Amino acid sequence: MRERLQKICALHGMTLQEHVKLSEHTSFHIGGEADYWVEVNSISGLSALLQECRKMQFPYFVLGRGSNVLAADAGYRGVILHIVLPEIVQQGNALVCGAGVMLAAAAKKAETLGLSGMEGLSGIPGSVGGALYMNAGAYGYEMSQIVTSCDYMDENGEVHTLPSEELALSYRHSRFSDNPGVILSVTMSLHPDDRADITARMQDFLKRRSEKQPLDLPSAGSTFKRPEGSYASKLIDECGLKGYTVGGAQVSEKHAGFVVNCGGAVCADVLRLCGDVQRIVEERTGFRLELEPVLLGEM
Ligand SMILES: Cc1cc2nc3c(=O)[nH]c(=O)nc-3n(C[C@H](O)[C@H](O)[C@H](O)COP(=O)(O)OP(=O)(O)OC[C@H]3O[C@@H](n4cnc5c(N)ncnc54)[C@H](O)[C@@H]3O)c2cc1C
Repeated sequence: MRERLQKICALHGMTLQEHVKLSEHTSFHIGGEADYWVEVNSISGLSALLQECRKMQFPYFVLGRGSNVLAADAGYRGVILHIVLPEIVQQGNALVCGAGVMLAAAAKKAETLGLSGMEGLSGIPGSVGGALYMNAGAYGYEMSQIVTSCDYMDENGEVHTLPSEELALSYRHSRFSDNPGVILSVTMSLHPDDRADITARMQDFLKRRSEKQPLDLPSAGSTFKRPEGSYASKLIDECGLKGYTVGGAQVSEKHAGFVVNCGGAVCADVLRLCGDVQRIVEERTGFRLELEPVLLGEM
């Protein structure tokens, strides 16, 4: 498979890397080696790679900024397609962002243009593609409120445009959670507002984030989804689990909704810790917590 992937990459101006440490590409700083890795900056190259993987039944995983994945200690036996696609284009009050654009960069661009709608999203450390996949949100803002359409590539390497109504956006979920497809670009409709007000809101949200969240330690953000009728962090805190530790993984002392890597944590530590938290919370409160990060590789 290496020769086939190498040939496609060379034809499309991309490079095939081998034995890439996932711990260096995930915000948790966890994960073994991926066999193959491509920085995807070519749509035609991506199409050729997807067609080849499909033909050869070779596994691939689409990665944004790795801020919501938990990668296996054994790594990944396939090719990681790391989406770069960095363009931002303004179309009236809308921004069309390549899937690889950081949300923070998109929000900054919107601020500069005096366009409101992304302020609460600006501190989320992911890409626009990852944010659409997860329907990311914070402080009352959510991707679903601003996305009007997206371009994506199917498994056969063909590009389609979907309006927001067909994206099945709900809490930390999109159609891409259940159907294969690589998000290429996202159109977000914003509205004009006073630039100073936009800046003030962004700064306020960033301040609140740094006050409440353990941003000094590696994590994947909120480790559990919000259960209906409560909050994961509240339940974990009420069960006295702040500071609960397994190996290098710990329920953050600062924010019980975050599992952090205190140094040297491996995936197995995080999974054991999360299993313990889920069991204890369910026994004591009746709420079943579900993991939010996407699992990458064989667990
Ligand atoms: C400190 C911290 C704070 C956080 N705060 C928040 C928050 O407030 N709100 C929130 O919602 N999230 C939060 N997160 C989680 C995370 O940042 C978001 O879910 C983000 O949107 C993930 O984007 P990503 O590019 O890192 O995606 P990744 O982690 O790389 O991938 C996540 C999923 O998206 C898929 N994916 C990524 N790009 C594409 C693409 N182009 N096409 C198809 N599939 C793709 C991947 O296959 C994977 O299944 C936080 C994380 C951290 C570490």
